[in-house]
Amino acid sequence: MENKTAIITGAGRGIGRQIAIRLAEDGFNCALNDLNETDLAETKAMIDKYGVKCVTYKADVSSYEEVENMIKSISDDFATVDVLVNNAGITRDSLLMRMKEEDWDKVININLKSVYNMTKSVSKIMMKQRQGRIISIASVVGVIGNAGQCNYSASKAGIIGFTKSIARELGSRGITANAIAPGYIQTEMTEHLPEDAKQKLSSQIPLGFLGTPEHIASCVSFLAGKDSSYITGQVIHVDGGMAM
Ligand code: NDP
Repeated sequence: MENKTAIITGAGRGIGRQIAIRLAEDGFNCALNDLNETDLAETKAMIDKYGVKCVTYKADVSSYEEVENMIKSISDDFATVDVLVNNAGITRDSLLMRMKEEDWDKVININLKSVYNMTKSVSKIMMKQRQGRIISIASVVGVIGNAGQCNYSASKAGIIGFTKSIARELGSRGITANAIAPGYIQTEMTEHLPEDAKQKLSSQIPLGFLGTPEHIASCVSFLAGKDSSYITGQVIHVDGGMAM
């Protein structure tokens, strides 16, 4: 993957950081995005040992303007953009009856509008190149739903519909688009769940153990690499069998 470039959003910690490390290990140059510059610098330090080019970009991916500016800088800094990983995401959980409008809007904007912002901007470059891979991180709850997460599951189901539509639009330009639906993965996002919710979730995993960021990064590595060139419009479940 020498001289190929991957953009990873939300690469400051958790799954995004691990994806960045794995793609660097695979030989991709990395354009890392996050809101937190300190976290970004830590991820970059972990990547530098692989000898690939790595540049960090602080930007809010829910802002169309910030994304446009970031992609301009990335195309100045790198010769090509070969892989886009839409990973940044947040939760603001509560039951529908208690859910504030601002929590609905924030989750939809950061999780779903960001995917539109990033993909629209990056696919202009990929269409000129006539090749590219778009990989978006959805969730098991975007497929099966979850009480207390109607905003989050709607955003993730939206990513799945978006992915299938752009796979149809961009296929003839040599661009693939796929989504990954992780199950219950150990990161800061899930660390703060109440103990009873963690127990309940764990009991729904046929493989009997929680996932790690490495499990998701391995799937991204496959979708970004040459062995997946005939796969598009798919949702790959990496969830220990939670949804089947
Ligand atoms: P984390 O909360 O650990 O990390 C998310 C990262 O995204 C943080 O670094 C965060 O930055 C960044 N981010 C948040 N908002 C923005 C924004 N507006 N612009 C740029 N970056 C932003 O989450 P995970 O690593 O667990 O999750 C990564 C992805 O995987 C998410 O899309 C999540 O929905 C999905 N997922 C996770 C699962 C899990 O069990 N952990 C299960 C299924 C899906 P900051 O530190 O500044 O907030």
